Amino acid sequence: MHKRLFTPGPTQVRAEILKELATPQIHHRTPEFSELYADIQSKLQQVLFTKNAVLLYTASSTGAMESAVTNLVAKRCLNLVNGAFSERWHEITVANNVPCDTFELPWDTAIKPEMVDEQLATGKYDAVTLVYNETSTGLMNPLESIAKVVAKYPDVFLLVDAVSGMAGAPIETDAWGIDFVLAGVQKAFALPAGLAVAAISDRAVERSKTVPSRSYYFNIPLMYKSHLKNQTPSTPSIPHMYALNAQLTDMLAEGMEKRFARHAKLASIVQAWAMKHFDIYPEEGYRSQTLTSVVNTKGIDVPTMINRLADEFNLRIANGYGDIKNKTFRIAHMGDVQIDEIEGLLKAIETVLGL
Ligand SMILES: *Cc1c(COP(=O)(O)O)cnc(C)c1O
Repeated sequence: MHKRLFTPGPTQVRAEILKELATPQIHHRTPEFSELYADIQSKLQQVLFTKNAVLLYTASSTGAMESAVTNLVAKRCLNLVNGAFSERWHEITVANNVPCDTFELPWDTAIKPEMVDEQLATGKYDAVTLVYNETSTGLMNPLESIAKVVAKYPDVFLLVDAVSGMAGAPIETDAWGIDFVLAGVQKAFALPAGLAVAAISDRAVERSKTVPSRSYYFNIPLMYKSHLKNQTPSTPSIPHMYALNAQLTDMLAEGMEKRFARHAKLASIVQAWAMKHFDIYPEEGYRSQTLTSVVNTKGIDVPTMINRLADEFNLRIANGYGDIKNKTFRIAHMGDVQIDEIEGLLKAIETVLGL
């Protein structure tokens, strides 16, 4: 029996979208393919409020994170770290021998614009990495106000991991001046894992041509050259592209403002429930619109609860991440989830816990 996913990636995929994956294959060096690519392109630009190119990676999000730091740092990168995924981005930067430093905060604390300002004022950096929505903690960093600060430093590029935020919370790529913003499609896009998208500014493309190449598969100048022909340099996951195209059509039909409002409403329901019975992990004012990390204030047996939800109700939520496993558990409210579905989930948790 299928367990409906309320996990922060992968998320539940609608049956109609799964069917798109079975579209008969086309060859990737044909006009039909370029048409599909161009179609996806213009829709992604609407979702991301941008005129920038949106690159497609046949990889999970980690590939696009690696592409950003290997192609867009000419001098030194500042990795902002306040959770497991921002820590991973630092590890990726180090693993690729890209010069970098971290600015670290406790996992329940948001990065504030003035902290970024202080770091950039040293003049040491020409790029900064930020995770918009920390999926490990359900914390949303204030992207718009951080972007304003970064914009004061014309040589510093803002690289954003928006993996679990994109398509669930607003990202005004051009208005906020974001040079690179990436996401894997298995989170708020509600598609199967295996494809990532990233909007890249013109100046970032230009810089990538001057940075000594550190990568082949994730090489931005090569990807961009193909992009101009509505192509990818190597064979992409065409099934994913059909599914993404169909999902984008549905997302734009719902309307982005409405989609964001639905996510905000889902978040308010789950957060109110969490405050009534437990507590919420990140500091107030920075709680995520797409997932909630609930603090286990009652000392419940988290794995048992998760297993019973799966066995008795065919619903799956996630334990806490890393060090805060069992001390927290996570409920995702992103993608195509509807209000009645999240209410049903919360009821089921109450039944399992006897609340
Ligand atoms: C899921 C996630 C990742 C990693 O994604 P993969 O698709 O597993 O490579 C990175 N960053 C954030 C914020 C995530 O939520």
